[in-house]
Parts: sequence; C-alpha cells; structure tokens
Amino acid sequence: MGNLTDIGVIKDIINRYGFSFSKNLGQNFLINPSVCPKIAEFGNANENFGIIEIGTGFGVLTAELAKRAKKVVAIEIDSRLIPVLDETLAEYHNVRIINKDVLKVDLHRLISDEFAGLSVAVCANLPYNLTSPIIMYLLEQRLPLKSITVMVQKEAGQRLCARLGTREAGAVSVAINYFAAPKMLFNVSRGSFIPKPNVDSCVIRLDIREKTPEGVENEAFFFKTVRGAFSQRRKTLCNSVSAAFGISKDMVSKVILNAGLNADIRPEQMKMEDFIRFSNLLYRSNICL
Ligand code: SAM
Repeated sequence: MGNLTDIGVIKDIINRYGFSFSKNLGQNFLINPSVCPKIAEFGNANENFGIIEIGTGFGVLTAELAKRAKKVVAIEIDSRLIPVLDETLAEYHNVRIINKDVLKVDLHRLISDEFAGLSVAVCANLPYNLTSPIIMYLLEQRLPLKSITVMVQKEAGQRLCARLGTREAGAVSVAINYFAAPKMLFNVSRGSFIPKPNVDSCVIRLDIREKTPEGVENEAFFFKTVRGAFSQRRKTLCNSVSAAFGISKDMVSKVILNAGLNADIRPEQMKMEDFIRFSNLLYRSNICL
C-alpha cells in the first residue's frame, strides 16, 4: 500500500470508497509522516510486545505498530473503514482488526486470548470527545498493561499529566496518578491532521504502576471524594465537599483538621497522601453514608 500520510493516497482512498470523515467519531487522521513512528517507538512497540490500538482510521499508525510489535489488535468502531483496512494493511500478517466500540470490548479476555506470553501496551490517536472515558476504562479495569501511549488534545494532555499540588490538577489527574506515572512526550500541531482540527494535540504516555497507592480503605469512596473535592473549581475543599455530599461545613471542617490539613486548603494544593488521609477519615466518620 502507498504512503498513508500522502494526501494523494488519502484522496484516492476517499474517492474509491466514497468515504467521508465523521466529526462524531473524532475522525481526524494523521498526515504528518514523523508522528506515527514516534508514537510506536515511545509506545513500546517492539518484538516483546503485543499492542492494542484504539481507532485505526485508514491504518496509518497501525502499520507503524505492525512493523515493530509482535502482534497488533486494533479496535475500530466505524464499519466503513473495515474494507479500507483490508487493503491498506494487507501486507501485515500480525494485525487483527476488531470492528467494535472499544468501551464494549472485554479487554481482559482479549489480552489473554491474543497476547499470551507477551507484554502488552496500548497505543492510539484517540477521538477527542472520548479521551477521558477511554483512558479511565483502560485504567479502572486494572488490565495487565505496561503503558498507554496516546495522542490527545493539548489541554487535555496537560490536565492528564498535571502534577498533584499544582493549579493544573483536577479529579482526572488524581485518578491518572493513582494508576500510572504520566509523562508528556511531545506536541503535535493541528496541521498534522486531515481534516485539520481547531486545536493542537500532544502525545502522552502513562506508565502503569505495578501497585496502586497503599492505604485507601474504600476505593469507590476515595474516587467519589476526589470528584466531590474538585466539583467546584477554585473553591476550598471544605466548601466543595460539603456541597457535593450535602453535609455541613462544620463536619467537613473537623475531618479536614483531623487529616492534618489547613482548614482553607484547596483541592489543587493536595497531594495523593492528603486525598487518601482525608477520604479515609471522611469514610470512617460515616457522615456521608
Ligand atoms: N489512528 C488513526 C490516525 O491516527 O489517523 C485515526 C485516529 S482518529 C483521531 C480516531 C479513530 O477512532 C477514528 O478512526 C474513529 O472512527 C475511531 N473511534 C471513535 N470512537 C471509537 C470507539 N468508541 N471505539 C473504537 N474506535 C473509535
């Protein structure tokens, strides 16, 4: 197959298959030739790895992954792309395409069926509107992954990689840091895609932790507390948590002080240990049940 970053090749596919880009499915395909090899290399695509790709488009990244990894399983929701991929990926015999919504795929099963004896990583240029749901779907299931390397909207990438205790941090940054060590890798300009989006992108990698932080007494309650803490931007922990759980500020304030935190602390000033201590005490106090 010709070069999938070549506009002439792309236009030829569009014409022959009568394809039109779907905004709802976040279809902005990569045409900058330097980006896919970099995602594949940073993303652990090598002989020892099986790679899960989410969203193939015409297969531009899939091909770079297939050149390097032992095996690639690519999940694509848009059935119009399946005949295109049969053509564009014909030369790669280590690729399997699954025509499904990734959020409905049993990934534990997929990994044990397809990648026995291999380390496993995810690489993808994600649809913008599903960035957080897809990443959280991958993380919350505690899949046996080494890393998740994804292209996302630049601002989303900054939030996902934000260090706790900084202004950029939000509930999603706490969730990401709980399961993984995030790293910003490189920026990608909007001109690298067809059609050209209104925003720039970046590629980030989440290196999955072997163990999540210790001491969380109830994980579901921990994440509920974190979401409550960030439910009102720039408000104090006390105000946000009292509003989110519908309990008095006095009660929350006592728990905050018992956790050894300042009464007027804001969630963006808190580290992982602070969230854990605070949520454990709130949980034990029974005032939120
Ligand atoms: N990898 C290609 C590239 O880099 O050019 C395409 C990336 S494009 C940003 C996102 C892709 O994800 C599209 O092909 C779209 O159809 C697919 N997609 C969107 N929602 C999906 C879902 N829920 N499950 C699987 N694939 C999805």
